[in-house]
Amino acid sequence: APEREVLTYELFGTAVRDLATEIVDSGFEPDIVLAIARGGLGLAMGLGYALDVKNLSAVNVEFYTGVGERLDVPIMLPPTPSAVDLSGLRVLIADDVADTGKTLEHVRAYCADHVAETRIAVIYEKPWTVVPPDYAWRQTDKWVDFPWSSEPTLR
Ligand code: 5GP
Repeated sequence: APEREVLTYELFGTAVRDLATEIVDSGFEPDIVLAIARGGLGLAMGLGYALDVKNLSAVNVEFYTGVGERLDVPIMLPPTPSAVDLSGLRVLIADDVADTGKTLEHVRAYCADHVAETRIAVIYEKPWTVVPPDYAWRQTDKWVDFPWSSEPTLR
């Protein structure tokens, strides 16, 4: 089996705190945190609390169907937040990992029509991503095991 990068729930807490600190130090003050569901929801929640941002929203994007198995293009599933929700806002997009970066590219393009500014925060960044995140906790070229998806589902 290929070597994996393993994130525990304990380390996840450290990642959230480190990323929030980096965001504050950069001077960026988001009006809304936009999670990419499902993988970015945990980070978005943690950043929302750490940055004192109560305005959270989520877009649901489907791209991977298994380890290394992808659809041709990322698909945004309904319902998507309306232009009104994001209009004029400074948006912080939160996701688990920038791998190909195509998911982030897709969501950033969706936001671009409406918002004042978008920045991107991820826990992991792969070296080949087409969209370099503004904030990344760690770099890796391995497949990442996240604590919420590394165990078999219970049904
Ligand atoms: P993309 O290739 O568009 O950057 O990645 C889209 C999504 O695929 C990520 O948000 C994540 O949910 C999933 N993904 C990509 N690489 C990995 C990985 O190394 N580990 C896990 N568990 N999921 C990944």
